[in-house]
Amino acid sequence: MACPLCDDTGWKTIESDGVSRVTRCDCWRTRANEHALGAAGIQRRYTHCELENFEQHYDSLRNAYRKAAAFVEQFPVVDRGLLFMGAHGVGKTHLAVAILKAVMRQKGARGYFYETGELLKLVRDTYSSSTELNEMDVLRPVMSADILVLDDLGVEKTSEWVQETLGHVVNIRYSERRPTVFTTNLIDSEDPLHPKSFMYRLGPRTRSRLFEMCDWIKLEAIDAREVGGPDATPEQIQRWEKHSPAAPRSGDRTRSSMPSKSSGQLRAQSRIPRGGDGAGELKWPGGKAGSQG
Ligand SMILES: [Zn+2]
Repeated sequence: MACPLCDDTGWKTIESDGVSRVTRCDCWRTRANEHALGAAGIQRRYTHCELENFEQHYDSLRNAYRKAAAFVEQFPVVDRGLLFMGAHGVGKTHLAVAILKAVMRQKGARGYFYETGELLKLVRDTYSSSTELNEMDVLRPVMSADILVLDDLGVEKTSEWVQETLGHVVNIRYSERRPTVFTTNLIDSEDPLHPKSFMYRLGPRTRSRLFEMCDWIKLEAIDAREVGGPDATPEQIQRWEKHSPAAPRSGDRTRSSMPSKSSGQLRAQSRIPRGGDGAGELKWPGGKAGSQG
């Protein structure tokens, strides 16, 4: 059906003070926004994610929702991004996608969604001789987007290269004051040996950057996927809470099951990446994959 305001030309005539002039039709803006959303990299399985359908059954989820809604309302006048922490299935990615869509639709922001592992793979792929792309072709839009979602931060196997690459993205977004929304199931522990900690996976420098540039928000809830879907019975939920290490209040139980690591690996982790801040410059200090000994 053609637009009743502009007959699909994208231009409409408006009258003000007896003078008529032509301006962009609302449908054109909507289409432009939808086009940008289609190119934002949001995976199909997240297309239903909106703030309105975020389930808030627990206090921590209500709190996370409030922060998300406030962020959208205040955007682009926001000092800090958001970092959603929690186990799988609590709705971190749902909220992050909902925020991205809302600021793109409501504020016309340019935004992108990346799974962190996928972004690293795209960067790594530019090192292959079969592509004309270089790292900056991949990273430029990531660094310059008005809003960026980096999903599942820290899930990839850590290495010096991974730490430097992510540290660089984080630093540039920080120094250019562009808000970023992260999701992660990493744990904040000061212990640099804790294999699921920010310290161990990302290094102390990126961890403290993340503190400076984001509100850290914990989400704790029943894992709908693990319990047996949204229609789980109270008995199922009780059983799950009792036995799952991912259940709220299960404390540090996951810790004892973590593998120990070799000291060589550890030395590589604790090295603080060189370069770094580069206040706004887009010079890329990272080496080629596989070239680091
Ligand atoms: Zn129209």
